[in-house]
Amino acid sequence: MQHDDTLAPATLAAQGLGATPMPHRDIVPPIHLATTFERAEDGSLPGGRIYARDASPAYDPAEALLCKLEGGAEAALFASGMAAASAVLLALKPGARIVAPHDMYWSLRNWMIGFAANWQIGLDFYADSAELAALLQHPADLVWVETPANPTWEITDIARATDLAHAAGAHLVVDSTVPTPVFTRPLALGADVVMHSATKYLNGHSDVVAGVLVTRTEDDFWARIKTARAAGGAVLGPFEAWLLNRGLRTLFPRVRTAATSALRIAQHFEHHPGLVTVLYPGLPAHPGHDIACRQMEGGFGAMLSLRVKGGEAAARQVAGAARIFRRATSLGSVESLIEHRGPIEGPGTRCPLDLLRISVGIEDTADLITDLEQALQAAAPAPTL
Ligand SMILES: *Cc1c(COP(=O)(O)O)cnc(C)c1O
Repeated sequence: MQHDDTLAPATLAAQGLGATPMPHRDIVPPIHLATTFERAEDGSLPGGRIYARDASPAYDPAEALLCKLEGGAEAALFASGMAAASAVLLALKPGARIVAPHDMYWSLRNWMIGFAANWQIGLDFYADSAELAALLQHPADLVWVETPANPTWEITDIARATDLAHAAGAHLVVDSTVPTPVFTRPLALGADVVMHSATKYLNGHSDVVAGVLVTRTEDDFWARIKTARAAGGAVLGPFEAWLLNRGLRTLFPRVRTAATSALRIAQHFEHHPGLVTVLYPGLPAHPGHDIACRQMEGGFGAMLSLRVKGGEAAARQVAGAARIFRRATSLGSVESLIEHRGPIEGPGTRCPLDLLRISVGIEDTADLITDLEQALQAAAPAPTL
């Protein structure tokens, strides 16, 4: 039976909306491999589909669930988070103007800069809400928001940014990869489109690269995005779509467990003598804490950053001394990851070079705290006698 609207999102996710595929009444959906679909004798399409690049039934379960969890009108899966974001940019017209944050996912920022330059698209960056308001005194077409934003977890007030964007004639798109629909629902705050790297928390097991967009309304902008997907062909394979759907079943317990652990870790290390600061929106000292309290429900996410005393070399040493945290890029999986972020972003980075980006997984919190303690100890300068 398909579930109704009175059920909690965690229930809908755990049961994949309660869908019951016919005729076998499978508890999990089958994998649809077909790339093409047969026409009837009169040329009509009784199955409702033509070809898998536009619309494979393999996408349906994850798209239906994500659409519901985000409270949107339609969802579209993509072959990666970057493919999803690229489709948004490809929906712009020449001469358009983008307003984007200084601090955001690095690869996307780099691609935006190159794309805007090549396609005669204006691009201005904001550091805070005052700069955003000033930039939106002039007409714009797209306002990009990432909150909490990589790698310092700056918070943007989505409702306020939406008002400013709409007044300037722009669509507002939120990269909500970090908070997930468990903690933030951008469409309910007025955003037009929400984007996720589904590679991260939505799939949650470091074994699928995927992306998704969910729209609040099926307007002309969304139609152009859908065309960019169908024509660009950056679509997900059936097996990846199936794995993503499986990962989504445990989204709520995974993300809640990791975020609870992240808060405890942030609190534990907040005044650690080996650290300059702990960046986590759940700490009252974080500049975005008040907005995060209003905008995020039930938790502050599971990403945090540590700024290590002793600069770049000390940060590299701490990462090198970790035994339980795995040294790898990416985020949002069941295993905890640590990354010395600045050198990854390379020239032009705004990331402090003493910053370690931490993705908290679902391991035992005490084990994670012990590991970071010993890593900070191992990298600490020997006491002078
Ligand atoms: C990983 C990530 C992306 C890019 O997604 P891919 O699936 O790697 O293409 C975009 N935004 C954020 C916040 C991310 O963490």
